[in-house]
Amino acid sequence: MRAVDVALPVPLSQTFTYRVPDKFAQAAQFGARVVAPFGSRKLVGVIVAAYDKLDDTAGGAELKPIFSMVDDGDPAIGKDLGEFLMQLAAYYFAPIGEVMRLALPPIEKETAALLLEPSLFPEAARGLSPRSVQWVTALSASESDVKLTARDQAVLAHVRAAGAIPVAHLLGRWKSARAQVKKLAAAALVAIEHRPMPEAKLFASEAEREPMPLLTDAQEHATREISKRIESGEPATFLLHGVTGSGKTEVYLQAIAAVREQKRGAIVIVPEIALTPQLVARFRGRFGGDVAVIHSELSPRERRAMWDQLRSGKVDVAIGARSALFAPVRNLGLVVVDEEHDPSFKQEEGVRYHARDMAMLRAHRVGAVCVLGSATPSLESEYLSRQSKITKLELPDRARMQQMPSVEIVDLRRTDAGPTGDKRLSLPLHRAIESTLASGGQTILFLNRRGFAPSIRCIACGELAKCPSCSVAITFYRRRGGIVRCHYCDYQAPAPNRCAKCKAGGLVFEGLGTEKLEDTLQMAFPTARLARLDRDVVSGKNVDEVLSRVRRREVDILVGTQMVTKGHDLPDVTLVGVINADAALSIPDFRASERAFHLLVQVAGRAGRGDKPGHVMVQTYNPDHPAIGFAMKHDVTSFLRHELTDRAELNYPPFARLALVRIDAADESEAEQAAAHIAGRARTFAEKLELDVLGPSPAPIAKLRNRYRFRVLLRSAHRASLRKVVALLEQERTKFPREVRCSIDIDPVQLL
Ligand code: ADP
Ligand code: ZN
Repeated sequence: MRAVDVALPVPLSQTFTYRVPDKFAQAAQFGARVVAPFGSRKLVGVIVAAYDKLDDTAGGAELKPIFSMVDDGDPAIGKDLGEFLMQLAAYYFAPIGEVMRLALPPIEKETAALLLEPSLFPEAARGLSPRSVQWVTALSASESDVKLTARDQAVLAHVRAAGAIPVAHLLGRWKSARAQVKKLAAAALVAIEHRPMPEAKLFASEAEREPMPLLTDAQEHATREISKRIESGEPATFLLHGVTGSGKTEVYLQAIAAVREQKRGAIVIVPEIALTPQLVARFRGRFGGDVAVIHSELSPRERRAMWDQLRSGKVDVAIGARSALFAPVRNLGLVVVDEEHDPSFKQEEGVRYHARDMAMLRAHRVGAVCVLGSATPSLESEYLSRQSKITKLELPDRARMQQMPSVEIVDLRRTDAGPTGDKRLSLPLHRAIESTLASGGQTILFLNRRGFAPSIRCIACGELAKCPSCSVAITFYRRRGGIVRCHYCDYQAPAPNRCAKCKAGGLVFEGLGTEKLEDTLQMAFPTARLARLDRDVVSGKNVDEVLSRVRRREVDILVGTQMVTKGHDLPDVTLVGVINADAALSIPDFRASERAFHLLVQVAGRAGRGDKPGHVMVQTYNPDHPAIGFAMKHDVTSFLRHELTDRAELNYPPFARLALVRIDAADESEAEQAAAHIAGRARTFAEKLELDVLGPSPAPIAKLRNRYRFRVLLRSAHRASLRKVVALLEQERTKFPREVRCSIDIDPVQLL
């Protein structure tokens, strides 16, 4: 008897075994999707193992059969990709079915309807191809002997009026439409046919073709080294360390051209595709329609079409955010991770994978080359290059030989406020903005706080206004007569006018958000044209719009959160101001200093990219902090050395490995008890396995969406011992009350 193991989309690590009816024998291969019964439900899963013969005596006789096949002949997940996903699931202790889902194309509604009820349409059950849609066409016969009910007649009239219509549309109107269609077809009043899915429009406008520049010597060298490895067909990982504006993108483009010469494909992942319209335009400018741009605004149908084109090899380059790592690119030869240091490569929900680490793995498994690019390499990548596990390539100068911007520290301890009276717009910064406006240059001001005021406090009792469901301060927004919002959940309410605790009326708005900064600037510089870029004003679509306005010089001052630090190339920006460099340093995380350094260097890199030199002003109360000092000198190498020494002393990554066990529950004591249990169990292994157990402790955000959160941090120099303990702890989870959630985060990035 034939059998298969199926990964189902359920939060369990195991797979499920099913019998394969003879009619599916051919199609039931590794990577193919099936519909399988699961309890009272039917689920779409992926075959991860197939057995020609399963012994009846081994319980095979009791196996439930597969219900139907989704993929008939061409499995949705190819062998290389499928095996990579299985390794990913094992590495992160993640449910295999949920991992598989990262790589599956969306199933359209109409297909799903067909899959779950194939018995109604035997012909559809045979051709269960999601690549086609079922249509009903009116036939010319006007009468028939079959007696039609009122409902039959209504459906018939509808089909006749339309001429031809997808069955799914009828189902939207009459739940029973299938029965009517069947009856009408039997009466030869209508015909049923499968039409191929229309090809969705994949690419908006053709981008402008960009002439290929003459490479700088450093670009030339990097390109040669990468191409050599591509041609040899041996896997290799490169760390492309190039200062901001050094032309890393050009190196990626050259590497892609080299890999396409070999008839192989490429994947490029970027931190946030919506924030990098310029980068996408450059890829499309070079490779035109051969680039699939994967972004969150695609409809399921468009995603599906893109997936098909990659799977068939019609398109061989995929670019997108971290999920593009799972694109079904054929014959993968290159994976590029742009801004490899960016924390957004870590997925923080569901399957908690790190796209940079997994990019290296996916590439390595198939003999592909992986290129990690950054102006500020992560300590992890730097460490790998010091151990000679990856090869560092340097682009030390800006591509067009522009000077790096000069950086000036504004020590807020001894600097006066400017004319606005607000110290956060210090006199030197105010003057610099003034003269930049006068000289016709553009200014970017970076402030990593959204809203008008980040917190509201009662002057009578000192109480901070909190979100009712989370243990965080609520942010005040001035719009619509004043509202408050929680940045961690969906809470939104009219702004309070008295303290929730002591009921006194004196509330003060504390702190400065981008909304208020914009207001303050408008008053200080009434004729300046302002624009703001943060998550409150822009969604993916209009980032491009705001940036285009800046590029067209319709904006004098751009205010924004870290959205302004991303790789924008805005040639007329000559002044960059960092309003509060200390904010990033105060986060309770061993990576705070590294993050702050990255942000400072990235935002500084926006200045002086054109012909005029750039100037950067960094406001801080900690001018001696190394993250600020080294950023000021653009001295990435010294910062890395300094920070590596610190990490080694404190025994943090990249010198030790971490696993974070997160526990949360609606009931605080249940969560606390579960956390204590986990920590206790972990401690019993600690000595033998050379493991540190930190905690249990409440998470820095101790309550989120009305759930109390605790954590236990495991640390070891040895990956194997960490894995052993995590595997054991995973079993403990079954002992907890049902509403206690316990998740494991391997190589955690966010400790919040
Ligand atoms: P990075 O990604 O390293 O910050 P970019 O790839 O955005 O840098 O390049 C910065 C600017 O330099 C871009 O405007 C790009 O078109 C230009 N550029 C890149 N390489 C060259 C080159 N070899 N000659 C001239 N201009 C170049
Ligand atoms: Zn909240």
